[in-house]
Amino acid sequence: MLERTLAIIKPDAVASKYTGKIIEMLEESGFSIIGMKKIKLSKEDAKKFYIVHKDRPFYDSLTTFMSEGPIIVMVLEKENAIEDYRKLMGATNPEEAEEGTIRKRFGKNIERNAVHGSDSKESASFEIPFFFSEIELV
Ligand code: UDP
Ligand code: MG
Repeated sequence: MLERTLAIIKPDAVASKYTGKIIEMLEESGFSIIGMKKIKLSKEDAKKFYIVHKDRPFYDSLTTFMSEGPIIVMVLEKENAIEDYRKLMGATNPEEAEEGTIRKRFGKNIERNAVHGSDSKESASFEIPFFFSEIELV
């Protein structure tokens, strides 16, 4: 089924100039970029985006990291986009990510792991309009 998902190139990867290589991996894996912009989140924006993690011990550090510098936010489209992009990203901890995944190649540690991706239809339907009010979910 044709699906859309929200992808973010995180501040660590943007600062390290991995944007082009990550976008190349996305396009070579069959994803179409429906929307894309470079923005900088405030700490408050990052806290709203990651509200699902508000009670986790890493919430404060994560939201500080996500607001430290520019990010690239994208809406990706493909058959089975949500699950397939999660696979292309790899495990949350880059040390556990498989060869050929974005996090294996570009992630630094469990927090500074290069990319974000929606983990379900429900999260995609919160995360896509969070950044792209003009783009339809599918
Ligand atoms: N994170 C962290 N420590 C952890 C787990 C997660 O710093 O123990 C950060 C990491 O940047 C991760 C984000 O919080 O990508 C969201 O966590 P989640 O469990 O949703 O992982 P993801 O869906 O990004 O793989
Ligand atoms: Mg997640």
